[in-house]
Amino acid sequence: MDHAADRAALVSCGRRLDALGFAPATDGNVSVRLGPRAFLVTPAGREKGGLSPDELLLVDLEGAVVEGEGRPSTETPMHLLCYRRRGDVGGVVHAHPPVATAFAAAGVSLDAPVIPEIVLTVGTIPLVPYATPGTEELARALEPFVDDHDAFLLASHGVLTLGRDVREALHRMERVEHLAKVTLAARLLGGPRPLTDAQVVSLFSGGVSPSM
Ligand SMILES: [Zn+2]
Repeated sequence: MDHAADRAALVSCGRRLDALGFAPATDGNVSVRLGPRAFLVTPAGREKGGLSPDELLLVDLEGAVVEGEGRPSTETPMHLLCYRRRGDVGGVVHAHPPVATAFAAAGVSLDAPVIPEIVLTVGTIPLVPYATPGTEELARALEPFVDDHDAFLLASHGVLTLGRDVREALHRMERVEHLAKVTLAARLLGGPRPLTDAQVVSLFSGGVSPSM
């Protein structure tokens, strides 16, 4: 089977999303860039924890299936928009992690600089206005944000993350959910105290290692 390593990375990402409770039932979808016009995408309507490598679909830049059985994820247009607009993106993860999705459902953004490691590795996380899941409309709603961010809350829906590869996109997904949990707990304790502008500048001038 071609692209064995990329297929294995998607299957492993699906298992991880399932284990973390980020993809209930058949929710969530994952993709990887194979080349300028070729992408592997998870199939529609399948549990992410039980995917096999040969179930993944190879699609072109328009979302047409080039290889594989069945239908690609209904969110394929959103994934392809990210690849079209961002030449640096090699992997895309969409999931419904419960606490971050609660922020998205409440229309509360996670764009304050609260935790240094997240400022460095994820950046600010905008709240993308609601659009019907699985439609081109959702890709259009994302478009104004996609050039400048690597993680997005999708209002009343879930979370989308990008990375140089699937692993980095998955790590960003995990960090967004972690930030949401910390922010929720901090709100119970009087509210998070965002870093000052000077503290953020200091982070980017080498004050803290991203690997901390
Ligand atoms: Zn979704």
